[in-house]
Amino acid sequence: MKKALNTILYSLLVILLAAFIWSTVRFTTYWAKDPVLEADSAQLSYYYETYDECRNAFIKSIVKFSTDFDSVKSGNFYVHGKADNDLTINWCYIPAQKTRDKLLIINSGLHGIEGYTGSAVQIMFIEKILNQYIPDNMGVLLLHGLNPYGFKYNRKTTEHNVDLNRNCITHDQNFDIRNQGFANLTGFLMPADPVNINNLRNRFFHMTAIYRIIQKSMPVLRQAALQGQYDFEKGFYYGGKDYEPQIKTLEPFLVNLINDYSMVLNVDLHTGYGERGTMHLFIDKPEDEAVLKGVETIFEGIKIDWGSDEDFYSIGGEYISWINSLVPGVLCIPMCFEYGTLNSQEIFGSLKSIQIMILENQGAHYGYKNEKSEKKVKYMFKEMYYPSSPVWRTKIMADSYEMLSRMVKNFGEFKME
Ligand SMILES: [Zn+2]
Repeated sequence: MKKALNTILYSLLVILLAAFIWSTVRFTTYWAKDPVLEADSAQLSYYYETYDECRNAFIKSIVKFSTDFDSVKSGNFYVHGKADNDLTINWCYIPAQKTRDKLLIINSGLHGIEGYTGSAVQIMFIEKILNQYIPDNMGVLLLHGLNPYGFKYNRKTTEHNVDLNRNCITHDQNFDIRNQGFANLTGFLMPADPVNINNLRNRFFHMTAIYRIIQKSMPVLRQAALQGQYDFEKGFYYGGKDYEPQIKTLEPFLVNLINDYSMVLNVDLHTGYGERGTMHLFIDKPEDEAVLKGVETIFEGIKIDWGSDEDFYSIGGEYISWINSLVPGVLCIPMCFEYGTLNSQEIFGSLKSIQIMILENQGAHYGYKNEKSEKKVKYMFKEMYYPSSPVWRTKIMADSYEMLSRMVKNFGEFKME
């Protein structure tokens, strides 16, 4: 009897040890796989490797196509940087060529580092869609690099560590918002020492995270980490204490333009969320019936990840909700395109994403213990938001073309009841 019990105990121990080793190896070496397809150099030609190159390419394509339309305007908003006086949000506005009925806004780089892909998609839009598909009752506004600091220096946030997608509090709210869940987890989410990629905390990050998940449940943890917070200026998803300068600058500009139209479709381009190489449509389910109808008609037949669903998380201070609140008389239809990079919908991908975010934020505030840690963290962060894989880039561009051309057509045909 005793012998049998011992055998069971030893077997259990071996299984536990094997599971521990397996999960550690799997987590350490984890990276999501590309879809299976051939890279296409024509699709790759829209992508660039620095903020300056992206901005130049955007300006160049505007110049090239602006003569095809009447009254095209373009310009830039300067964003002050402490150590950089060459940060701009560039824009191009093509007014509806006949009646000002609908306005399509597409913006990139709200989360700085995500601007590389957003910029590429905007340039493709100018070169392949603008001329072919835009009806004469539709105006187009392209905003390039809403957070030029983060774009240029490979951060998601602004120079003030503010996440612009948590900073856009609607005017009926204020910045005095508590996220108790985040406050309870600061020890885990914001380590306050130089990054050492090889210390025990980082080697066994997944174990600590799994312990936290068991303790709090995944939805609670995800909500605490991602919803946004307004108390810890060195934490991630920090929404700030006031609007960032570019948000203040953009408001009158946008109100002015939107007021000219009866309907707006606002597309916000992001990377980093969801299945690698897949384009996700991601928004909170609109409470307004007319807006919901607009979303469902324009994106008919396409799966939408409603942020308010149980498996997802809701956020405050979101840019597209803020835009929609600016001009109450105009129907504003919001949509986020999220290009997945790390399978963040799966457990290992999700843990890896959170770890990389913690490490990058920690490095930005407390530095790095050694060069190896700095190189590795910066490399993983860039790969998480701007994969270098030609296959990934090809797939994203091909899918964006399909989606944008279909979206423009449906938006053109959409009628308010
Ligand atoms: Zn984003």
